[in-house]
This record gives sequence, C-alpha cells and structure tokens, in this order.
Amino acid sequence: MGFLYPLVILSILLIFFPFDSSSRRTLFFHGGSTTTTTTTSTDAYCNSWMYSVETNNIGDWPTIPIICQSFVAGYMNGTRYLSDSKVVASYSLAFAKDAFTGGGKDAWIFDVDETLISNLHYYAENGYGSEIFNETKWNEWVLLSAATALPASLELYNNLKSLGFKIMILTGRGEEQREITQKNLNRAGYSGWEKFILRGDGDGGKTNVKYKSEKRAMLESEGYTIHGCSGDQWSDLSDSPTAKRSFKLPNPMYYIA
Ligand SMILES: [Mg+2]
Repeated sequence: MGFLYPLVILSILLIFFPFDSSSRRTLFFHGGSTTTTTTTSTDAYCNSWMYSVETNNIGDWPTIPIICQSFVAGYMNGTRYLSDSKVVASYSLAFAKDAFTGGGKDAWIFDVDETLISNLHYYAENGYGSEIFNETKWNEWVLLSAATALPASLELYNNLKSLGFKIMILTGRGEEQREITQKNLNRAGYSGWEKFILRGDGDGGKTNVKYKSEKRAMLESEGYTIHGCSGDQWSDLSDSPTAKRSFKLPNPMYYIA
C-alpha cells in the first residue's frame, strides 16, 4: 500500500495549491485580507499611470481613469504634490543662477494654470479630472479669480525676478480673460512681469503646443534668451524653439495637446 502515500500527498497539495493560476489570482484579489491587497494594487496602478502621464508616455488622454479618482485626490491634497513642485522649483532655481547673464534679455516663461496658480478647488468639485472638461463651468470659476498660488512657484517666481530675469507669463487663456486673470495673479501674490501673453484673435483653433512655440519664437525674435520654461503640460514646453531648459510641473488631472 506504500504506493498510495505519494497520491495522498499530491491530493493534499492540490487542495491547498491548485495548478489553476486564475484561482490564485482570485484569492489574491478577493480573499479574506483582500481589502488591503486590492487597495494596494489600485494605488500601484494609479501611481504607474501617473508616472506615464508625467513622462508623456500616455500621450493624449481625455479623463483620468475612474478607479484613480481617489488616488489623484489624495496626491493633489497631500504633501506629495507640494513636495514634487518644490523639488522642480529648486532645480529650476539652481539652473537659473548658473544661466543668468545679466545682459538685460534673460527671460523665463511661466504658464498660469497649475503652474503659477492652482485650480484645485475647482477640480475638487468636478471629479479631479474624471469628468469631461466643461467650458461653461470653467469660465464661471475663472471669473471668481479665486485660484491660489502654488507656493513653490511663487517662491521661484520671486527669486527669478530678484536675480534679474524678465518674467514672461504665457497662458492658453484668451485675451477676454486678461483682466480677471491678472487680478487673480495679483491676488495670489504675483506682480512685476515683463509680458503677459494670452491667446489673441490669430490664435484661435491652434493647439497649445503650436500657440506656445510660436510665442517663444516671437520672444526670441525680440532678442530675449529663453533660459527656462515652467509648465504643467508637455505642450507648454515642447516644439521648437524650446527654452534652454524645460521644467515640468506635476499635473495628473488633465491633459492639453
Ligand atoms: Mg497649465
């Protein structure tokens, strides 16, 4: 009867460790201690998704994955967003100090939304980027001029200004929002810029990347050296002519081409 022992042992092993890998996956995601495991898996996925957003691996995307809404909310409201922005600002300033020539044409470009000012309050009330962009609601928010400064950007802005850089504000907002945006920037603590460039009549229908690269070319034709460019979208930074260095701020809430 000794030949039966291996069969008995094999049967016991199959009960506890089935060959079917889907059974093991089921246990992994839905077993007794599954809540923690599932949350961890979602967070890991959303973290990876955000990495691909920031590196522009995803390219164009319409809304955040719905399973990542609470992850994005946590990131944006937590210390990590502020910390990431602060690190970007510190490297920006270090580069700026080395690059500055003092010739009177040293320029630095800043985008507005999610770069100088944060619209987190608006996005918190609109699904953190999980909802399709609603222009009417957005324009109502802009009229409140209630966006707050991104602390690291305000500090960088003032440091660059003190160094002697000409600050160029280049936004995708339209000329019709010039006054209200200026009011919001002032309220948030910004002042003393050299130029404040918004989309004019000739810019309608252009992608952000085309509009902004054309404005950089315009500034260069005016004799400015664009040492740095700070923006939360790759389309704030890409396409010729680029700044000598581009600094990408985090933004997992929306994508602009
Ligand atoms: Mg922006």
